[in-house]
Amino acid sequence: MRWYGFGKMQTLPPLTPRTALFLDFDGTLVDIAPRPEEVIVSAVVITTLQRLHAQLEGALAIVSGRELAGIDSFLTPLILPAAGAHGGQLRQADGSMTVIDPPDLFLVSRAAGRLTVMHPNLLLENKTGSVALHYRQAPELETLCLETLTDAVCRSPGTELLRGKFVFEVKAAGVSKGGAITAFMARQPFAGRVPLFAGDDLTDEDGFAAVQQLGGHGLKVGDGPTQARSRCASPAELRNWLAQAAATLTQGAPA
Ligand SMILES: [Mg+2]
Repeated sequence: MRWYGFGKMQTLPPLTPRTALFLDFDGTLVDIAPRPEEVIVSAVVITTLQRLHAQLEGALAIVSGRELAGIDSFLTPLILPAAGAHGGQLRQADGSMTVIDPPDLFLVSRAAGRLTVMHPNLLLENKTGSVALHYRQAPELETLCLETLTDAVCRSPGTELLRGKFVFEVKAAGVSKGGAITAFMARQPFAGRVPLFAGDDLTDEDGFAAVQQLGGHGLKVGDGPTQARSRCASPAELRNWLAQAAATLTQGAPA
């Protein structure tokens, strides 16, 4: 089996023609921006994903907390297999969709909304399957956000709180990126391949567990404790590694 390592990135896991590649979006594929809508996806990233998608025979999926519509718009013109809303929305390679009914998030949204009225530096995202409260612009409000949402979650059956980087998110209980990856791995073109999942946040940990349980590789992007067995320093380093892998796989592919 061939694999590809580059200079100081020798410790990164192998990316081979038999890899099933799963990529988180924010903080992994793209740099985190002050506001979620401000992330920048370069043309090079689009080209790299397009090439890898073809080289891996379609076994490349985005696994994100964002909704599918948001992922698709950032990756235009690509429509990749993808899990959105932390796995609450799942689009397989053949286009078939699985959408988990979102829980009643009214109390959560109302409580978070009241906080954002009092503290305009907080940012509330009401998504289809979740409510996200970002405190990146007001880190001193972390405890207040956590206590407010925890209280609302306790009064909202079927919900659970996720902690991310300067964000708390409330979503359907039991939905996870690990579950999404496992669902992809049960179907073609992912089945039978070696899964590799790259992510940067606490919400990616169960994805790392899922791929490593399947004999694959978890790749943590950036600092912080993790159960992933591999790590790279930054989204830029990950993008560089992906671009080099795409170039090398192209050279190695049959004519
Ligand atoms: Mg992320």
